[in-house]
Amino acid sequence: MDAVGPEAIAEGIWVFRSRFAEMLSTLIRLDADHAVLVDPPMFADEAEGIRRFARERGLSVDFLVLTHAHGDHIYGAVHFPGTLTLAHRDFWDFWREIEAMDREFFSRFLPDYGIPEVRCPHLLLAHGSRMRFQRELVFAHVPGHSPDGLMVELPGEGIWIAGDTVLPVPLVSSGSLRRLHATLLDLLGRFHGGTIVPGHGEVVRDGTARRLLEGNVRYLERLGEEVGRAISAGKDLREVEGSLPLARFGIREDAVGGLAAWIHRENLRRAYTELSEGE
Ligand SMILES: [Zn+2]
Repeated sequence: MDAVGPEAIAEGIWVFRSRFAEMLSTLIRLDADHAVLVDPPMFADEAEGIRRFARERGLSVDFLVLTHAHGDHIYGAVHFPGTLTLAHRDFWDFWREIEAMDREFFSRFLPDYGIPEVRCPHLLLAHGSRMRFQRELVFAHVPGHSPDGLMVELPGEGIWIAGDTVLPVPLVSSGSLRRLHATLLDLLGRFHGGTIVPGHGEVVRDGTARRLLEGNVRYLERLGEEVGRAISAGKDLREVEGSLPLARFGIREDAVGGLAAWIHRENLRRAYTELSEGE
């Protein structure tokens, strides 16, 4: 939680921003007593801040939803021991595949952070699963950033909590360029205004949210075209990295809290592998 506190995006829904890469956690009041937290923050003090905030409103955090199995979105579950945890049904298999890599990444990125053990979520959900209290939550499978992407929709209120499926600059990461493009196109097709909570950065609404989705789609299309062309021309990955800087995509290197250039490099690598394989 940052010093200015959470952003209320609707009655009983608050978004907290972590000091790690502006990761967003969303607290949702389900009824007078119960709340769900989507993507707990990695740091104990931030988690405690959210718990206290909930308690002051008579709420206990009874459920955690993990939008996908990447450390910054799941390590924080350790700060809510015993809390019923929900994720997509591909979560656990995917996590076991990438766990060593993910731990290595975060121990390099945050050397002072004690990376906790990750437990298998209690409930593994399919596309279309629902949770109903006074509010209704609908869970959508949104693969692409990772194979287990889960988006939380509040259909009555036009709110999508998208995890890293939507970011200021898309990150193919451990997913697939083609799948992320297909997922984002689908989201764009069924977006008719409302609020999107991305995995990191800022909550966006209406026209701004639509422009963000359109920008994500355009970036991925351009990435696919340019990398495909470079592969056809026989360029190796190093040449591709040299010839396709982020500036050519109309994005500043220091966007996304300074991470944009890193994200773009990861995407180039992923796109190069995927398009070389002709998947
Ligand atoms: Zn992620």
